[in-house]
Amino acid sequence: MSGSTGRPPEVAVVGSINIDLVTTVERHALPGETILASDYTESLGGKGFNQAIAAAKRVPTHLIGCVGDDAFGARAMQTAEGRGVSVTEVAHTDTPTGRALIEVARGGENRIVVAPLANHVLTAERVTAALDRLRPVAVLTQLEIPLDTVEATASWCRANDARFILNPSPVATLPPEILAVADPLIVNEREAEALLTVLPNAERVDVTDHAAAAEALRRVARSVVITAGAKGATFTDEADSGHSAGTRVEVVDTTGAGDEFAGTLLAALATGETLGRATILANTSAAVLVATARSRR
Ligand code: ADP
Repeated sequence: MSGSTGRPPEVAVVGSINIDLVTTVERHALPGETILASDYTESLGGKGFNQAIAAAKRVPTHLIGCVGDDAFGARAMQTAEGRGVSVTEVAHTDTPTGRALIEVARGGENRIVVAPLANHVLTAERVTAALDRLRPVAVLTQLEIPLDTVEATASWCRANDARFILNPSPVATLPPEILAVADPLIVNEREAEALLTVLPNAERVDVTDHAAAAEALRRVARSVVITAGAKGATFTDEADSGHSAGTRVEVVDTTGAGDEFAGTLLAALATGETLGRATILANTSAAVLVATARSRR
């Protein structure tokens, strides 16, 4: 896909940039109750940020997003650049950088509240102008940004013959025109289940049968990948279908596994890999990530 110029393909991730504020608690607070945390950490995240860092390990990657004119935004930009992500199309706004408030209780169960803040001022106009300047061969986006921005991203890709890759997370009802250009639609089991229930004329599909679920979703998208945690991932497009078995690893932290998978898949597809081969590469990268402590990533 590098074309006749011989330059490596460039990709873009259109998405969210957050700071995760994580408290460790013995148990979750009851309504109206105040409790003390035993630990507190801050780390950078947001699906767009994580996916861009994953893609940049393989191909030149641009992040299109919005941060606040604040210390969190500056830190996110410095880190992304340090990982090889181009941030020239990240806008700095008066609205503060997005925040995820995460409470992790003993046993690992977490509660997460996301305040989108600057991510919600990433407008369709801003993204379209950025894509016109960058002209990437493939674009990956998710749903932590306004839906009309996702819609504009899909339209730009269709009009400019760029590959549109959609990770519809957090899952929401999507206009069929967006799904129809997704190549692939990347969903985990929960997202697959939610989308299957809103399929037109949905016959009952057992989501645990990943091959059948992926085939059913392909009625609304160009191609589909279903990720299934330790069980690996299943793919289907018009040329081929298959499954890449999970890689056995010692799990340290599964946070961001889906983002590592999606970012790697974007980069692999942009360099001309088939969907099957890209799925194998993404499956391996995501497994390596879950075996690595967050502080060492
Ligand atoms: P999400 O993080 O969106 O919930 P999954 O849990 O399906 O998505 O994980 C995404 C990918 O990360 C999987 O397809 C797999 O490649 C990898 N992965 C996640 N958990 C594990 C695990 N325990 N062992 C090996 N690979 C894993």
